[in-house]
Amino acid sequence: MTNLKKQIYLDYASSTPLDPRVLKVMLPYLKGEFGNPSALYRLGVSAKTAVENARHLIAKNLQVSSQEIIFTAGGTESVNLAIQGILNASATRSPHVITSPVEHSAVLECLKNPKLLNLKVSYLKVDSQGQIDMHEVFKQVTPQTVLVSIMLANNEVGTIYPIAEIARKLGQLNKERIAKKLPRIYFHSDACQGLGLISAGIPSLGVDLLTLNGSKIYGPKQTGLLYIKKGTNINPIILGGGQEKGLRSGTENVAGIVGFGKAIELYLKGFKKENLRLRKLQKYFLDKVSKQLPTVKINGPLGESRLANNINLTLPGIEAESLMFYLDQEGIQVSSGSACSNITQEPSHVLLSMDLSKEDAKSSFRITTGIHTTKSDLDYLLKTLKTLVKSKLFKTDERIN
Ligand SMILES: *Cc1c(COP(=O)(O)O)cnc(C)c1O
Repeated sequence: MTNLKKQIYLDYASSTPLDPRVLKVMLPYLKGEFGNPSALYRLGVSAKTAVENARHLIAKNLQVSSQEIIFTAGGTESVNLAIQGILNASATRSPHVITSPVEHSAVLECLKNPKLLNLKVSYLKVDSQGQIDMHEVFKQVTPQTVLVSIMLANNEVGTIYPIAEIARKLGQLNKERIAKKLPRIYFHSDACQGLGLISAGIPSLGVDLLTLNGSKIYGPKQTGLLYIKKGTNINPIILGGGQEKGLRSGTENVAGIVGFGKAIELYLKGFKKENLRLRKLQKYFLDKVSKQLPTVKINGPLGESRLANNINLTLPGIEAESLMFYLDQEGIQVSSGSACSNITQEPSHVLLSMDLSKEDAKSSFRITTGIHTTKSDLDYLLKTLKTLVKSKLFKTDERIN
């Protein structure tokens, strides 16, 4: 199949292309170095060394101990390990968890698990920017609270959350709770969209558990880690051979782990400069789109409290899913909702929590930029959007029912 049209990929929050330098360090472990890291002969030791070197590299970059890094098969698994692992290890009879309604579905579905019979969950309110009120976290705390899970940055609207501030206050609260013999409250953050925000290291955030994955940072898919602070009481969810200190059994994804380590190193190295570039592109596009498409609404915050690579727009009366298919025909890939809600075809739970109407939520789409995005890509997107909005394909009355 030949495709003569230039492809403009604008869905980096859903998946990123593999950095060629990442592929390069992975290749030996997909070829000759195929040993099982648990095997004691040289081929196995070589694989084990590669895994441990990657762990050290990541630990150094995130300024934590390599003992605190558990490799998993992606963000979803890390979130599951964090939430189920803490709940399973907790001695509290009817544990209570605090989270927000704009979390990734991995967090939300985990907490809806019917097997967690006595679990109580409080969902924080979010405002029209998708932001929480951090004081609300502390108003929701009960004697049974064992876990707070709040993402570092939102994957749909780019809102950045005050994780360090919450962690600081939770730290003080935990001191009082321990004196009163109440359970310690662990703090997990899903940072799959926010690696750049932890360039000062995980300790600067102060969380007990943190989820990262490779596929959003130019690394391989199905790679991830859970940072587990020393002393955290957690149980495994996958049982077997006892790999990863017994917390994640199964033969390690050696090539993936090696690639993930390289991806984290490269991403953090290039982040500052790339972030400035993407911030400028974001401002450029938002200024232009507001002027040239007067009906457009921008979802989420503006400025520094938003990820630099995220733009989320509503074009009232235009169904985002159809828009996405038309843009695809023009060689442009955007997201009509999060990748997960794409499967269910439901309007985004994030936008609904921000009080958008169902119609507006269905007319919203996400543009996320990355390493290959240029100004001319965004000009082409804008031009195409203008043509589509004017075209008869999107006559409002034919669609809304
Ligand atoms: C992508 C993503 C996940 C899921 O990660 P997978 O590696 O796809 O399992 C979880 N949380 C956030 C915020 C994400 O963006």
